[in-house]
Amino acid sequence: MIELFLAAAISFSPADARFAHETAAGLVTNCTPRDAGTPEGLKAARWIHSRALQTGAAVHLDSFRAMTPDGQRAFANVVAEIPSANTNAAWIVLISHFDTAPTVKRPFQGANDGASTTGLLVALAAAIRRAGAGTDNVALLWTDAEECRVQYGPNDGFQGARRAVAQFRAQGRRVKAAIGLDMLGDRDLHVTVPPNGDGALKDLVFRAAKRAGLAALVSEGRYGVMDDFTAFHEAGFPAVDLIDFEYGSAPGKNDYWHTSEDTMDKISVESLEKSGRLVAAILNALGRR
Ligand SMILES: [Zn+2]
Repeated sequence: MIELFLAAAISFSPADARFAHETAAGLVTNCTPRDAGTPEGLKAARWIHSRALQTGAAVHLDSFRAMTPDGQRAFANVVAEIPSANTNAAWIVLISHFDTAPTVKRPFQGANDGASTTGLLVALAAAIRRAGAGTDNVALLWTDAEECRVQYGPNDGFQGARRAVAQFRAQGRRVKAAIGLDMLGDRDLHVTVPPNGDGALKDLVFRAAKRAGLAALVSEGRYGVMDDFTAFHEAGFPAVDLIDFEYGSAPGKNDYWHTSEDTMDKISVESLEKSGRLVAAILNALGRR
């Protein structure tokens, strides 16, 4: 007997975008600041965990300790897993950090940097579940400690992503694609794919964007970017980043990034909808839905 397996394509609607925005606003209101390795950071992880559970996905809080320049600290990732109907299916990993940068002068909300894609990932969990099980397993990963405390180094920054990579390796999971999402709520949205990602995956992103009518939104970045996806890429998993690293008061400026200007009024439902549609198109291209 051959089982024909026809999963619906994943779609991301205006209602999904409003849900993403509400979730980002909720995180900012209830959990600011949320620096990694602090009680507030752990509170943010619990808050995201409870929100993600409401999508009906299997979600767990992954608490761990890791070294920092100030000694061992407690961290927590949030992980949702939406399994495929196929046995031995590969994994697609969607990643957003939720922590705020401790190096930034207060007040700092991280509305775009951290909260926007955290909300987007919760709404994507709902959208993916709605489509039903696909050809791949999907993991949604909200990482702690993307930001560094002092300066990026082996024990400073990306502890959450490195933790997840180590777990995927230990479990012998096959990763088809790891996709980092960062700063994708910007009202003035221009998504870039940094050059230091996987070549085939970058091509797939551009093809998917074209098919979704979003070709004008996405371009290859001029500069390499260090972000959570780098931990996956360095581990030999195909990985790519989607980031809008031009976040400011005028074109070419980045004066809202890592400043007290990174507030909810700088992000929009419309941008989250475009970002969500782009990720849905990439998932559909990866799974040939
Ligand atoms: Zn940041």
